[in-house]
Amino acid sequence: MSELRRDPITGRWIVLTPEHTRRPSDFIPAPEPPPSSAVCPFCEGHESMAGIELLSWRAEGTSANGPGWQVRVIPNREPILRVEAAHALPGQQVFQTLEGLGAHEVIIETPRHDETLSTMTREKLFCVLWAWRERMRDLKRDGRLRQFVVVKNHGALAGARQQHAHSQLIAMPLVPNVIRHEQASAERYHERTGACVFCDVIQYEQEANRRVIATDDLAISLCPFAPRMPFETWVLPRAHAAAFEDADNTLLTAITDRLQDALKRIDATLLVPAFNVILHTASIGDERSASYHWHLELLPRLQAVGGVELATGTWVNAVPPEEAADALRAAAAV
Ligand SMILES: [Zn+2]
Ligand SMILES: [Zn+2]
Repeated sequence: MSELRRDPITGRWIVLTPEHTRRPSDFIPAPEPPPSSAVCPFCEGHESMAGIELLSWRAEGTSANGPGWQVRVIPNREPILRVEAAHALPGQQVFQTLEGLGAHEVIIETPRHDETLSTMTREKLFCVLWAWRERMRDLKRDGRLRQFVVVKNHGALAGARQQHAHSQLIAMPLVPNVIRHEQASAERYHERTGACVFCDVIQYEQEANRRVIATDDLAISLCPFAPRMPFETWVLPRAHAAAFEDADNTLLTAITDRLQDALKRIDATLLVPAFNVILHTASIGDERSASYHWHLELLPRLQAVGGVELATGTWVNAVPPEEAADALRAAAAV
């Protein structure tokens, strides 16, 4: 029997089809070609190929745009948005337009071609999250920007065009649909109950302990009640926090640990799948929101998105999150 489930945060419906349950090994894709660092612009020593750096975490005594860095942020060579664009308000015509104002930056997560978020040390992964935060704090000075989103594509199935580990920070002049929908749904929940739906979910999941993967004092990882994809995993701060860029180093360290732990468990369970990581955070100006709660969404990309999903927005998922959480909890995280 399949089951329709509504995500309490977004109001999104998904169909769970446990009768189609597959083993983790059924999702393992064919291996990708071996990495080549010879012509990779993101490798250490190739800094001039990648572009002028906006920010880096580097060893003392080394200079910008040369070797010696751990994390390096550069402008995207093919940005979907640019800070230079003039900001035009939408017109009243049928076809409204808005110039592509914003920022599109690439965070090169490691100087090494063969290192990933799950294989690097936790100190190095912390630097990646630090770079996301510092760039947001800097970009916020541009009063025209309204929304940050961080996306990471790992593997061709997840949309990665570069094998070398990297993420993208996109700053937009508007709140895009998916985030606006999530925020509006959380606001409705807050109006109805006076509570943050994410905080309520975290509290419920901790008490039920059915879909929690791991937790510590500050951060939690869990499989959401209504996941779009098999083994979808979220990482959240346990205490209410709307804006990622307001996180202090202590919280960022806890999130680093939960993120790396989840990625290692996903790698162990699904044999290093392609995946996306998405950071959802409050819109600029809404940092004190009582209804929105920043979080990371980890989406292993085990199968292509099908026509049903595209036609209806209804995700069809063969793996109940309770079973996914069981498998991830049982997996070795080291
Ligand atoms: Zn490389
Ligand atoms: Zn909350």
